Amino acid sequence: MRALTLHGKHDVRVETVPDPEILNPRDAIIKVTATAICGSDLHLYDGVIPGMKPGDIIGHEFMGEVVEAGPKSTLRNGQKVVVPFTISCGSCYFCSKQQYSACDNSNPVETQDLTEPLYGHAMGGLFGYSHLTGGYAGGQAEYVRVPFSDVGPIVVPDGVDDEKVLFLSDNLPTGWMAAENCDIEEGDTIAVWGCGPVGLFAIQSALAMGAHRVIAIDHYPRRLELAGSLGAEAINFTQTRVGEALMEMTGGIGPDAVIDAVGMEAHGFAPDNIADVIKQKIGVAADRGHALREALVSCRKGGRVSVPGVYGGFLDKFPLGALMQKGLQLRTGQTHVQRYTAPLLEKIMSGELDTTFLVSHRISLEDAPGGYRNFHGNQNEWTKVVMRPE
Ligand SMILES: [Zn+2]
Ligand SMILES: [Zn+2]
Repeated sequence: MRALTLHGKHDVRVETVPDPEILNPRDAIIKVTATAICGSDLHLYDGVIPGMKPGDIIGHEFMGEVVEAGPKSTLRNGQKVVVPFTISCGSCYFCSKQQYSACDNSNPVETQDLTEPLYGHAMGGLFGYSHLTGGYAGGQAEYVRVPFSDVGPIVVPDGVDDEKVLFLSDNLPTGWMAAENCDIEEGDTIAVWGCGPVGLFAIQSALAMGAHRVIAIDHYPRRLELAGSLGAEAINFTQTRVGEALMEMTGGIGPDAVIDAVGMEAHGFAPDNIADVIKQKIGVAADRGHALREALVSCRKGGRVSVPGVYGGFLDKFPLGALMQKGLQLRTGQTHVQRYTAPLLEKIMSGELDTTFLVSHRISLEDAPGGYRNFHGNQNEWTKVVMRPE
């Protein structure tokens, strides 16, 4: 089959690789009909995620048709499914608490040793994302093996356009969980750093959950425009001092909750970020956390901090004093996707949520290297790339 493989920094190729096979009775093989490039794939592309090997098939946002199901899979050939990016067994201690991304059984023993020293515990498995999370082949390919296919994939009704439901694989549940982690109350103002797909869906979700105001922070005009079309007010951080603007907009109180949908590759020329860029370049620090620092310092006293943005290693200059002294609550984590797929599919089918506004470019899988280059280099215009294997 044809698949997108990562060979190093800014080096992705479409290659012919062996077809996936059923390895476990609960596996299924999916013929991919649509797959998207995620902002977190750009962290792989930029070479800032540890644990990658040359030739790894990447991609964790995908859907398709079941073409083979193991004897213990609950899927049937011909069904159309969206697959969560988190791989979860459904029955371990964590899965039974619906903390699916913490699954104890989906990261194979041989790769668990990589994360234990770093995080204290082994991570759950993720598709197409580093050998720290199992080294599973991803979905930017013609076919993909889906482990625990009786737990993860959600069957979508016949005749629904792929683009309407594809983002159930990651971005929509991730934005939704980010808003849920804000414990939104009537009248709340929420500030969101980063208007990529997760930030935009977090804005949409926060408003759906009853937020009174949402303020979006970015530097790409097109992305701020999309945030505006969803009902957010915009701050362009290259033109405005974010902290001061937020205080002014909230009558000197600060936002009730803040969302960092930027993660470890913050942009901009704030002094702390310039120091981070240098440290990242010489390899003494992994994460550039300017957005998170600014969010913590801007949040009102007693407010909530939600971090869907991806961080991988260590962050310095973390304003722990602001967190403690202001009595902030911090919630984060890889999304427990399986918890949200069914209720969010219902909201899509009822028309309550529409995510199709996000897609800016549609290309074939063969054109994926160009798609990565453009998504990486022109984030203003390229908000979301959907690829279809031919
Ligand atoms: Zn993603
Ligand atoms: Zn589990």
